[in-house]
Amino acid sequence: MSENKDKIACHVCKKMIPKATAVHAEGEEYVLHFCNLDCMDYWKKEKKDEKRETEIKK
Ligand SMILES: [Zn+2]
Repeated sequence: MSENKDKIACHVCKKMIPKATAVHAEGEEYVLHFCNLDCMDYWKKEKKDEKRETEIKK
């Protein structure tokens, strides 16, 4: 049973998923893994919010 050994944690919900089925998001210096597109969308929204907050603070 070593077939599914290669598992990673979803960046949003921390669920362990097989790397082969993970959704990837590539940034400038990183690659993030998500269990599905819902989690990736969630992360994208969070990222946008962060950016907006930073801009407001400036
Ligand atoms: Zn997830």
